[in-house]
Amino acid sequence: AKTTGKNRAVFYREDFNQTLSGKVAMEKELRRALAQNELILYYQPQVDAATEKLTGAEALVRWQKAPGVMVSPAEFIPLAEETGMIVPIGEWVLRTACRKAKQWIDEGASDFHISVNVSPRQFYEANFVDIVASVLEKTGLPPRLLVLEVTEGIAILDEGKTTEKLIQLKQLGVHIAMDDFGTGYSSLAYIKQLQIDILKIAQTFIFEVSSDPDKAPIVKAILAMADSLKLTVIAEGVETEEQFRFLQENGCNWIQGYYFYRPLPTDEMNRVLSKSCVQ
Ligand code: C2E
Ligand code: CA
Ligand code: CA
Repeated sequence: AKTTGKNRAVFYREDFNQTLSGKVAMEKELRRALAQNELILYYQPQVDAATEKLTGAEALVRWQKAPGVMVSPAEFIPLAEETGMIVPIGEWVLRTACRKAKQWIDEGASDFHISVNVSPRQFYEANFVDIVASVLEKTGLPPRLLVLEVTEGIAILDEGKTTEKLIQLKQLGVHIAMDDFGTGYSSLAYIKQLQIDILKIAQTFIFEVSSDPDKAPIVKAILAMADSLKLTVIAEGVETEEQFRFLQENGCNWIQGYYFYRPLPTDEMNRVLSKSCVQ
């Protein structure tokens, strides 16, 4: 029994070491990736549900580890969040996306907005508002065309602080979207209190519109309440015509999903823009 205990202890210690050194190695790799320009942005167009015209795009980070080897953000964002590497990565994403959006606007895509994901760790940095202000100033992007996508995670730490920071951001003129709405605990009343402008209905709800008819009334209710609260609603993960029609008929404002566009590399996004919304 003693031996087993010892072995078990060793096993646990080794496991811990492995995890820890694995994390340290990954952090180092991420730092190097950022410095050597291995991070790139894809852009997923967002479409107006009524007109089917482009209204904006969400910037989604990718790690191009080697030619042809692309690491999904789902694999490295959680660790970047844990190690704090999300702070410099997030700042790079913000700057790069705003610079690109300004270029598209200058090329004729008027009123085209850019959505950027903000992780809780990034949001809680003391100088986050200053960074956003400085990026807007340096890139010349009109603040109203920047949408910061936050998650319910930002409210967990300190509600008062969260509200204060959101107010400071709104004073810059940017818009705030609540990402993955419906998966957590926030009520629409709370969303209104936080002065959120845009609700992104989580992908799981959209999926369930077609797979489980019982879920459709929930999405309908969210859309109706959001409308009465004057919130803009965007549905993400829209993959089928059926889902699109349902959302269109029930007053969803914007649509994002494979039904219209997948996330696109910059050159493809350039092509889509030059064909569609430059008037
Ligand atoms: P998210 O913010 O919820 O982004 C939407 C995800 O859904 C993206 O995955 C997108 O490619 C995918 N998607 C879009 N349309 C469809 C569809 O019709 N069907 C399906 N099945 N999926 C669709 P992606 O690019 O792998 O990003 C995953 C997550 O990583 C994002 O989820 C976001 O939480 C995080 N992430 C991505 N880029 C950044 C970033 O720059 N900063 C931070 N903090 N997080 C990021
Ligand atoms: Ca998002
Ligand atoms: Ca989302």
